[in-house]
Amino acid sequence: MSPARPTIVPKPEEQEQPWQWSEPRWRAIVDRVRAGKTLRPETWPGGARCAVAISFDSDHETGELREGGESIGRLSQGQYGNRAGIPRILALLQKYAVPATFYVPAVSAMLHADEQRRVTADGHEIGIHGWIHERNSILPEASERDLQMRAADMLEKISGQRPVGIRTPSWDFSPNTLGITRDMGLEYDSSLMADVDCHELLLHGENSGVVELPVEWIRDDAVYFNMNRFAGLRPYTPPSDVFDIFKREFDGAYREGGIFQLTMHPHISGYRSRVWILDELIRYIKGHADVWFATHAEVVRHAKANATHDHA
Ligand SMILES: [Zn+2]
Repeated sequence: MSPARPTIVPKPEEQEQPWQWSEPRWRAIVDRVRAGKTLRPETWPGGARCAVAISFDSDHETGELREGGESIGRLSQGQYGNRAGIPRILALLQKYAVPATFYVPAVSAMLHADEQRRVTADGHEIGIHGWIHERNSILPEASERDLQMRAADMLEKISGQRPVGIRTPSWDFSPNTLGITRDMGLEYDSSLMADVDCHELLLHGENSGVVELPVEWIRDDAVYFNMNRFAGLRPYTPPSDVFDIFKREFDGAYREGGIFQLTMHPHISGYRSRVWILDELIRYIKGHADVWFATHAEVVRHAKANATHDHA
C-alpha cells in the first residue's frame, strides 16, 4: 500500500484559494513547463508513414523500495520482471527484429547489471528512470539534481551506453525537473502528455532545447492490470481488450502519419497471457509495409531534424 502523501502545510501567502488566485499567479503555474512548437516530419525514414516507438519501464523491485516498502511478496513480483519478464520480452523483440527503449532506475540496473548489458547488446536504447524510482516532485532541487545525474552515470557505467533521454519515475515533474534535464544536456524527455507528436518543451515560456516524445496512460499497460492487494483496486482487464485499445491507437497514428508510442513494464506484461498482447501487436503492425520501428532517441532525432513547422 502506498503511504499517504506528506501533508503540505500552506505558507501564509498560500492560503488563498485557487478561485481567489490572480491571473499572473495561475498563468505562472501553467507556464512552468509547456508544450511549444510541434516537431512533425513530413515522412519517417525510408518513406515510412508511421513511426513505432515501444518502451519498457524496468522498475522491477523499485516499485516497492521507492515507497520505503520491504514486502518480500511485492519484491518477488519485482524480481519476476528481471527473471522472467525481460527474457520473454527480449526474445520477442529479437523474433521480430524490433528495437525498443528501456527506462531503468539506477537501483534496478545495479540489482540486474547483466540485464542492462543484454539489453544494450541487443541494440536497444537505455534511458534514465530515476535513482530508486523516487518521487521527484517532492524532492528539494539539490537532491533531485544529484539523483538524476548519478542515475545517468550509473546507467553508463553498467551498460556502457550514455543515456540521452529521460522518463521520469511515475511520469512526474517537479518545477525543477526540466531545468535539470536541460542542464544535463539530455536530448529528450518522454514523460508528458500534451500531444501525440514530438514537440519543443518550454520552460517559463522559453524553448528549453529538450524535445518531448509524449506518453499517455492510455498507451501504458500498468493502468489496465495493476491490482492492489490491500485496497479495492482490481483492474484485471482482459488481454484482448488491452490489445484492442493499443491497436486503435496504432491505427490512428498510421492514418495520421504520426507516432505510435507504447509503454510496458516487464513485471506487469512479462506474463504468458500479456506478452501475447505485445506479440499480437507487433505482428499486426508488421502487416503494414510502411512503418518505421525505432528507439525513442531515433524518433526524437528524426522529428527534430525534419520538422516541417507548419503544424504548430
Ligand atoms: Zn516506472
